[in-house]
Amino acid sequence: MESDEDLPQVLPVPTPTTAAIRHKCSACFKQYKKKEHLVEHMKTSYHSIHQPKCGVCQKYCKCFESLREHIHGPLSKASCSRIFAERGCILCLELCDGVDALINHKDVCQLPAPAPIGMMNLPCVEPQITILSSNTANSTKRGYEAIAIDCEMVGGGSNGSLDLCARVCLVDEDEKILFHTYVLPQIPVTDYRFEVTGIKEEHLRDAMPLKEVQEQIQQILYNGESVEDLRWGGGQPKVLVGHNLDCDLDCLRMNYPDHLLRDTAKYHPLMKTNLVSHSLKYLTKTYLGYDIQIGVHDPYEDCVSVMRLYKRMRSQNHWMGGIGWSLPDQDNLCSTTVFDSWKSKELEKLTPDELFRMSRSNYTCWCLDSRQAFEDGWNTTPRVEAKISNSWKE
Ligand SMILES: [Zn+2]
Ligand SMILES: [Zn+2]
Ligand SMILES: [Zn+2]
Ligand SMILES: [Zn+2]
Repeated sequence: MESDEDLPQVLPVPTPTTAAIRHKCSACFKQYKKKEHLVEHMKTSYHSIHQPKCGVCQKYCKCFESLREHIHGPLSKASCSRIFAERGCILCLELCDGVDALINHKDVCQLPAPAPIGMMNLPCVEPQITILSSNTANSTKRGYEAIAIDCEMVGGGSNGSLDLCARVCLVDEDEKILFHTYVLPQIPVTDYRFEVTGIKEEHLRDAMPLKEVQEQIQQILYNGESVEDLRWGGGQPKVLVGHNLDCDLDCLRMNYPDHLLRDTAKYHPLMKTNLVSHSLKYLTKTYLGYDIQIGVHDPYEDCVSVMRLYKRMRSQNHWMGGIGWSLPDQDNLCSTTVFDSWKSKELEKLTPDELFRMSRSNYTCWCLDSRQAFEDGWNTTPRVEAKISNSWKE
């Protein structure tokens, strides 16, 4: 599936009459002969102020990859490409005010690779939990704190294809290790996947039993609050950041509420234009500017990468100049819901700008995590299932 958003539109030279009947999308600048086609386009393109935007021409793109193509690709727009080459950051795709500003920006944007922890048997860091009284917790209005997680899996089963958690690492927003341990496999390991994991039999000999690992992780994530507190929107649970979190949670036999998961493999702006995931290795190289996973996978290195990607996405300011454009509580509505409440004829009377203002994105932007307003979205479908499955226990 190819995106045609960035393909140049071959249009007849606009004469006053033809130009007058062109209907141009305010977000991606696509043009339509008929207004109803623009309305259809708005219903299905989920434009919003949260989409990655070209700093030069202000065009909104579906994801950073399409923005990259717009700036860099073989069909890039020449004027944007030229200005971007002078003062645009190749990592975060922000446009700086000038060449000096770009130099300063790069100092902050280009991060050094973290030192891998290697195969060392780090002491399991005991989770430090600050238990807040429920009063304090409920009245505190602030964004969520994030915890990054990464698991290394070895293989079980006759052909070694069953993923068994053999190592897990949790890191806080300051890249400090909160917890790290080797994990005792539930069933015999048939493939250590040494090339990727670097794990050998001896690493797992005195490893921590899975049940204990689950308890430790749960304590970190739930901040010492009970599952019940979390279910009713109390407490201060953490958002869990990872790459393909489903795999990590599956191999840990744990669940965590969907609305608290931030997955760099599933976040639309970080995906390919056809909504296929990029690898963490690619995302780290492209957005953070350094290499990971050169030899064996280091769980700390992977945790730091996802945390940095998350923080970078969260810190985006999508509201400047857009005040009043998008009410936070409406961000949970998708475009189709908003547009469907209108009659087609009524929609066709709206200007392209008005249509854009109505349009909603089809993902929850991580910039909302840093906003108090997001607390409103908190109570949506609490699917808090903190049950730990013991089905693998003998
Ligand atoms: Zn558009
Ligand atoms: Zn946003
Ligand atoms: Zn542009
Ligand atoms: Zn940058």
